[in-house]
Amino acid sequence: MTWSASMNPRPIFADEQKVEDIGIDIDRLPHHITTEFDDVKLILRRWQAAQPDRGTLPQYEELALGSIGRFADEMAVIRRMEASDPVILRAGARFEAIVGGPCIGKSTQSLLHAYAFSIVEALNAAHQAASPRMVLCRALVDGMVSTVETLVLPLSCRWPGDYFLVFLRPRHSQLNLARLLINATREGIMALNAIERDGEIRDFYILSINDAAASYLGSRADLLQFTLLSEALAGPGLSHALERFRQAARARTAPFELEYELGGDHISLQVGVAVAEDILAVTLTHVGELKARETLFRSLFDENPVPMYVRDQAGKNFLNVNDAALRLYGYEREKFFEQGFADLCADGTGAAHPHTSGEAACRHVTADGRVLEIVEYARGIVVDNAPATLSTIVDVTERKRAEEHVTFLAHHDPLTGVANRTVFTRELERAATATQKHGSPFAVLLIDLDDFKIVNDTMGHAAGDALLVEVTARLQRLVRKSDIVARLGGDEFAILLPGASSRAVVDGLAARLLGEIASVQTIDGNEISITASVGAALAPDDSADTESLLKCADLALYRAKNEGKGSFRFFEPEMDMQQRERRELEMELRGADIESEFELHYQPIFAVKTGQLRGFEALLRWHNPKRGMVSPAVFIPLAEETGMIDALGRWVAETACREAAGWPDVLVVAVNVSPVQFRRGDLVEMIGAALARSRLKPGRLEIEVTESVLLADSEANLAILRRIRDLGVRIALDDFGTGYSSMSYLRQFPFSRLKIDRSFVREISDSPESLAIVRAIIGLGASLGIDTTAEGVETVAQLEALQSEQCGELQGFLFSPPVASESVGEIIAAFHESVSRVA
Ligand code: C2E
Ligand code: CA
Ligand code: CA
Repeated sequence: MTWSASMNPRPIFADEQKVEDIGIDIDRLPHHITTEFDDVKLILRRWQAAQPDRGTLPQYEELALGSIGRFADEMAVIRRMEASDPVILRAGARFEAIVGGPCIGKSTQSLLHAYAFSIVEALNAAHQAASPRMVLCRALVDGMVSTVETLVLPLSCRWPGDYFLVFLRPRHSQLNLARLLINATREGIMALNAIERDGEIRDFYILSINDAAASYLGSRADLLQFTLLSEALAGPGLSHALERFRQAARARTAPFELEYELGGDHISLQVGVAVAEDILAVTLTHVGELKARETLFRSLFDENPVPMYVRDQAGKNFLNVNDAALRLYGYEREKFFEQGFADLCADGTGAAHPHTSGEAACRHVTADGRVLEIVEYARGIVVDNAPATLSTIVDVTERKRAEEHVTFLAHHDPLTGVANRTVFTRELERAATATQKHGSPFAVLLIDLDDFKIVNDTMGHAAGDALLVEVTARLQRLVRKSDIVARLGGDEFAILLPGASSRAVVDGLAARLLGEIASVQTIDGNEISITASVGAALAPDDSADTESLLKCADLALYRAKNEGKGSFRFFEPEMDMQQRERRELEMELRGADIESEFELHYQPIFAVKTGQLRGFEALLRWHNPKRGMVSPAVFIPLAEETGMIDALGRWVAETACREAAGWPDVLVVAVNVSPVQFRRGDLVEMIGAALARSRLKPGRLEIEVTESVLLADSEANLAILRRIRDLGVRIALDDFGTGYSSMSYLRQFPFSRLKIDRSFVREISDSPESLAIVRAIIGLGASLGIDTTAEGVETVAQLEALQSEQCGELQGFLFSPPVASESVGEIIAAFHESVSRVA
C-alpha cells in the first residue's frame, strides 16, 4: 500500500520573500511548516552564503561540491531540461532508500509516487522564485506513515539546464496508521490473550485496545492496555461479561450481546470474536443506538395518540396495533388480532386500502358496529425481515359529518329540508343526460300554492312557514324515494320524476297532490285550506333540454293558474304559441300610442228600487291596429306586468273624470284601479290631479279596487285608500266573493260599495249555493251600511232574484253593454226622465 498525501509543494517562505532574508532570520519559517532539523537551517544558510549577489543563484560547483558535501548521503542533484522530465544526476544512498531505490540517471517520475510529483512541483516553484522551497512528503512504509522534509535549492550552472540540490530528511515522528485507523472507527476493537490454567480459560490480558472499545468499557486505551479483562470489566454490571468472553473463546467464533449500565447510560454491545491460537480479536459494536431507535419507534407506535396498526405483506393480517387504534375500534387486543383486516373494512374487502404506501379514504366498522369514515396513511416498513405496512388511521367521521352538514345546507332548503333549486337543477341535468344517452323518460312538475300570500299576511309568517313544511311533508309522502322534491323558493315547489314515462302516471300523481294539499291542514290550531296549481312537462316528449323543459312546465303552471285554484295542466305545444303571442302583444302594448289606440267605454249602473240611472263604470278598450279589439282581461295583466298600467291608469282617470264632468252632475263615474298602481306612491296625487283638472266633484268619482290591494303591503295601501277617501272619493270593493273574501277586509276599511262578482250572479237562479252567497254578501253589506252592486246581470230571472234579495244596484248586458262615450249621451237621454226626476 502506498500512502501519498500533501503533494503540493509548499514554500518555506512567502513567495515574495527573497533568499537574503533567510540569512537574517532563518527561524522566520511560516509557523505551519517548521523544520525539525538544524541541518536544514544550516543548508539554507550555506545556500545564501554562496549567492554571489542578491537575486543571483549560487554556483552548482560551489555548493554541491563544497561546504554541504557532508549531507551528500541525503541529497540528490537534479537537472531540469526544457520539455522533458527532470533527471536525477546524482543521489546519496539514504536519498535512494527514501525515494524507493536506485534512481541515478532516472527521471523523477521513477521515484515513489509520494515524492515524484511533489519534488517536481517544488523544483518549478524554486526555479521561478529563485529561492529555496520546502515540501513535506508523506509516505507509508510498513504500515507506518512518515513525513519527509524535502528541501529544494535552485542553483546556477555553466552547463545547459536548471540545476537543483534536493535534500531529504524524514522526521522522527511516525504515525502508526493501523492505530490511527483503529482509533478512528467507532467500532470497538481489542486483542485479548487468553490466560489458561488447567486447560481452562481463566481470564484475558488486553494486549491492545482502541479508544472506542476503551470508552465502551468506561476507561482509556492507555490505562487498559496490558490489564486483565476481569479488571477492565470489574464495574457494576460488567463482571458477568467475563463469562461470556470465556464461552466465546471456547466456541471460537460465536458473537454475543453485552448489555450493561455505565455511568447512567444503557450500553448495548454486539460482540464479535475471532480466535487465532490463544489470541482473541474482539470487535465491539454499539447497538445501543439501534436499540434506542427501536425503543423510540415502539413508544412512537405504542403510545401514539393516533391510531396505528401494522399489516403483513399481503395486507390481510395484523402484526401489531397500538392502544389508540384499539380504543378507536373498541376491541380488546386479542380480539383485534383474531379478526382479519377484511373484517375491519365496511365493504368487507379492504380493496380501497393501500397495500404498501399511500393514502386512502375508506370506511371501517367498530366492534359495536358503528361505521367510521377514516383516512388511512400507509407506509412500507420491514418487520422481522419481511415487508409490512404501517398504517396511521385518521378518524374523519365527525369532520365528514360537519362537511356533509355544510353541503346539506348548501343543497337543501333550510325551512323544509328538501332539495333546493341548485340541487334540483343538477338532478334535472342528470336526468336529461340519461335521457340523451338511454332515452329514459322523466317528468317535471311545478307546484305553486294558490293565495299563499293571504295565509302569510293574515296569519303571520310563522304560520306560513308551518304550512310550507306541512305541504312539503305531504308532497314527499306521495312520491317515491327516487323522486326529487325541491322547494324552488317562496311557495314554489318542483318534483322530478325520473322514469315517469306516461302522462297517465303524472296525471294520477298530480291529482293526488292536489287532493293531498287541499285537504284541510291545521296550523297552530287554526284550520287552513289551501290549494295548489300544478304544471307538468315530459321529457323527452315535450323537450329533452332542461331549460326548455322547465319553461314548458312553467307555461303549463301558468295556464293552470289562469284556470283557477287547484288546477293541473300538462304542457301543450299551443301553450308555447300563446306564450309567444303574449310576448308579441306585450311588445305592441309597450309601443302603443295611448291617445290614438285606447278608448273608454261606459256601462250604466242602475238603482234596483227606483230603476234610476246611477252612473257608469269606465271600461278600457284597446283598438290594436293589427288585431283589432283586445280585451282588457288580456291586456290589463300585461300592462300590470310591464308597468304600463301607470300611464294607462292615469289616462283612464283623466279621461273618465273629464267626460263625466260633462254628464248631469248626479251621475257617478266608476274607475277601475289596479293594485299595481298602488305601488308607485303617487296614486292619490294622480287622482287629485284628474279631479282638479276636470273639476269633477270628488263625490261623483268612485274607484273600484279588488281585495288584492289589501293583501300586498296592506298597511301602506290602506293608508293610500284613506287618503283617497279623504279627497271625498268613494271606494268600491270589486269582484267580491272571488278572493279570500275576508270579513276582516271589510272591517279594515269602510268601503262605500261591494260589487258582487258576476260568477255568482250568473248562477243565482240555478245554484242555491250562489244564491246563498249573494244573499250573505248583501246581508253583510246591509249590516255594515255598505251598498251592494250586482255585476253581469244578463237575464230577467237574475234581475228578479236580485230584486228579491234587495240588492242595491245592478249592472249588466240586460240593461246595456259598455258603450262608447258617444253613446253615453243616448243612454243618459233615455233615462233623462229618471235622472231629472232625481235631480
Ligand atoms: P270588471 O271591473 O269586473 O268589469 C266588468 C266586466 O264585466 C267588463 O268586462 C264588462 O264588459 C263585463 N260585463 C258587464 N256586464 C256583463 C254581463 O252582463 N255579462 C258578462 N259576461 N260580462 C259583463 P271588460 O270590459 O272586458 O273588463 C274586464 C276587466 O278588465 C274588468 O273587470 C276590469 O277588471 C278590467 N278593466 C277594464 N278596464 C279597466 C281599467 O280602466 N283599469 C283597470 N285597472 N282595469 C280595467
Ligand atoms: Ca269593475
Ligand atoms: Ca267586477
